[in-house]
Amino acid sequence: MVAEHNSPSDTVVAQTQHNTTRRVAIVGAGCTGLRLGLLFKKWNENTLPENKVEVVVYEARSLPGGFLRSNKSPTGVLVESGAQGVLSTRTMFLQALEEVGLTPADVIAAPRSGTQAGRYLIKPSGTLTRLSPLTLLRSGLSAPGDLFRLLIEIFKGRPIRPPHPDESLYQFFSRRFGRFWAENFVLPFATGIWGGAAEKLLLRHTFPQLQELELKHGSLVRFALIAALKRIFATRKNKSSLSQRWPKGLLSFPNGMQTFIEKMRDTLENSGQWQSLRMNQPIHSLQLTPERKHLINGTECFDFVFWTSAPWNSPELDFAHPEMRKEWDFLQNTPTHSLVVVNISGARSQLTRDGFGALAPRASDGLLGILFVHSIYPQHVPADRFSYRVLLAGDRNPDMISWSDTELTKYTFKQLNHLSLLDLPPEQCSVEVVRWNRAIGIADLGHDERMAALWRLQAHMPGLYFAGIYKKGVGVADALQSAQDAFDDWVSALRPSP
Ligand SMILES: Cc1cc2nc3c(=O)[nH]c(=O)nc-3n(C[C@H](O)[C@H](O)[C@H](O)COP(=O)(O)OP(=O)(O)OC[C@H]3O[C@@H](n4cnc5c(N)ncnc54)[C@H](O)[C@@H]3O)c2cc1C
Repeated sequence: MVAEHNSPSDTVVAQTQHNTTRRVAIVGAGCTGLRLGLLFKKWNENTLPENKVEVVVYEARSLPGGFLRSNKSPTGVLVESGAQGVLSTRTMFLQALEEVGLTPADVIAAPRSGTQAGRYLIKPSGTLTRLSPLTLLRSGLSAPGDLFRLLIEIFKGRPIRPPHPDESLYQFFSRRFGRFWAENFVLPFATGIWGGAAEKLLLRHTFPQLQELELKHGSLVRFALIAALKRIFATRKNKSSLSQRWPKGLLSFPNGMQTFIEKMRDTLENSGQWQSLRMNQPIHSLQLTPERKHLINGTECFDFVFWTSAPWNSPELDFAHPEMRKEWDFLQNTPTHSLVVVNISGARSQLTRDGFGALAPRASDGLLGILFVHSIYPQHVPADRFSYRVLLAGDRNPDMISWSDTELTKYTFKQLNHLSLLDLPPEQCSVEVVRWNRAIGIADLGHDERMAALWRLQAHMPGLYFAGIYKKGVGVADALQSAQDAFDDWVSALRPSP
């Protein structure tokens, strides 16, 4: 069938009209996009032939994975560019592993106790102190009153009046446990996950379950203690959606997080004619045709489009429609943090510190935290070497994203020397710098309005779905959950309304 008009897009539109198989485009082959692809694979396996969909995953880069990228340095140290691991408490992650045939034997878990698991806080004096209430008290950082405040939380009941719905993470912890704990636990914790912004991140967007727990049970400490006791005495009666027993803790793989991506990619690529993965194909234009099809890059038509990358990664996306352009421009203003990861490895010395890592307090001028990878995953680092993963920038020093490798290396070595973690010069170490520009979106007071903009875009373009970590949560498991949510929305929309 040849269209009357000469434009290639008209030809594609006309061709697609005569093809009854519905087509789905997924933009981005990070863990959200790949997971979506696999959900459609499952759909195709379990549905009637007439309901099957053809799925094309478009990826701008030459490799899938997005933030998940692992590589081995010549010295045998495995370096992660993005995510270091995922907590085993996130069932969604374990489910995704099972569905691509990964087993507990394929994963490695970070130590959960002992020296290798120690978490530290960097004191203003430049030394590390164990991040535990008693050690903080002994080190003089906290006063007995701070400890008392923590203990009496257990006796607190439900709030008489509901707390302000726009309470920040910092405000919530400050109110319940006092300013000291908000400053020394919550602020560095938020720095480790979001690159900062504990005072801007809204509790209801980051940990909505805490708000619910407080309203239902009052004390969070009491609730946590009872839940821990229940777990200890729980019988194996509890039904789990998982078919295998997984190790506990922060999980990764002997070859790093990339194993998960490769396994998802292989499963997708081996699933026959219905799925395809196209690399080096950035989507720069998304338009609705008069037939209400989605025209991608002016060349191919789809019935549904799932957009998985943060809008601010594609600022120039061409919608043709001015209203939609306006919404997309609005999303570009999302507050974000850039992250710089400097991986340093070398021969172990007396100064090499074991433990999980150290978080940096407010006073830090660019350092967000340090992970001691040699302790977290000894499988990733030869026994005679250390590997520090140093996180920089965030809200501490946003300009660092544009520093040169030399400047970043110099800064990092100075910090590690100052903290007495390293005494080797850069020439005797392996250094790898990774920059993630606008990596993490901040779910602050403007987040609801941004979600509304996404809804309006979807209303303008029926069949367009958004999934990804710019909506809810910033971790790998959140990405997988967002893929599931978007897929479930798609399934619900297929059902005829009652
Ligand atoms: C330094 C760092 C450390 C982290 N540590 C952890 C951790 O320890 N644990 C954890 O759970 N999470 C961690 N995260 C977060 C985690 O990596 C993300 O939640 C997850 O990788 C997000 O996956 P995604 O698929 O949603 O997005 P992305 O990984 O961003 O994937 C989006 C994909 O879309 C592609 N793309 C973008 N625009 C287009 C376009 N126009 N056309 C086609 N393709 C496009 C991109 O190239 C990319 O491949 C970390 C993140 C960073 C940056």
